[in-house]
Amino acid sequence: MNRRYRKTIIAGNWKMNKTATETKKFAEQLKAVLPKAKWCDVVVCVPAVNIQAAVKAFRDMRVSVGAENLFYEKSGAYTGEVSADMLKDLGVKYVIIGHSERRQYFGETDVSVNKKVHAALEAGLHPIICVGETLEQREMGITMELIALQVKAALCGVGAEKVRKCVIAYEPVWAIGTGKTATAAQAGEVCTWIRTTIRRLYGARVARSVTIQYGGSMKPSNAVELLAQPDVDGGLIGGAALKADEFTAIVNAANQD
Ligand code: PEP
Repeated sequence: MNRRYRKTIIAGNWKMNKTATETKKFAEQLKAVLPKAKWCDVVVCVPAVNIQAAVKAFRDMRVSVGAENLFYEKSGAYTGEVSADMLKDLGVKYVIIGHSERRQYFGETDVSVNKKVHAALEAGLHPIICVGETLEQREMGITMELIALQVKAALCGVGAEKVRKCVIAYEPVWAIGTGKTATAAQAGEVCTWIRTTIRRLYGARVARSVTIQYGGSMKPSNAVELLAQPDVDGGLIGGAALKADEFTAIVNAANQD
């Protein structure tokens, strides 16, 4: 982490978990254990149908609400989709874009990720852009090329001022929901590479201001080590974000003086 130049952000990704009633209950549990997060921002990304309940429940807790996806068109005949403006209007601050599960199961591509990033920024949302390699790609030795390509594609046409509003989440696909965590060195290496890629595109000042998270089986037992990496500025957390005590322990790891 480097708090001098950029925000530390701990974000939960609930995926397709919890009802609106359970959202309210989770907020009450979190309120009982979450300390004032002085050194990091706390975000909870929830299913679209729970956004209203989450915004209400987290209102007085300094916890921002995020969405897990959006559609890039402003409005129209796109049955079942949700636009960036709709999310913004509900009080959403962050939106996950390009999560590997969306790439794997819902046909998300680097092109659609880029369109969604533009839509999010235009609406005043902070995109959390997910990039990451599969195990096969890592074993083929193409991780760095692939990550650079995903970052460049996601940010294509995005100006320097807007890039500062983006968060990049390095999420190795092989570490998501598998219990396998990248070692701190592996996570640190790729996060540093992401910053190098941004520096080559936008220069050093912009690159050092962008928050880069690690995601993939982050939990209380490994958070301190992962967050100690100089270019790991927070975490995107799936499984461990569903339990108030585990999520709080990760926030505490990021919130140390
Ligand atoms: C995720 O879904 O973004 C994630 C990192 O999941 P998990 O923490 O469960 O691996």
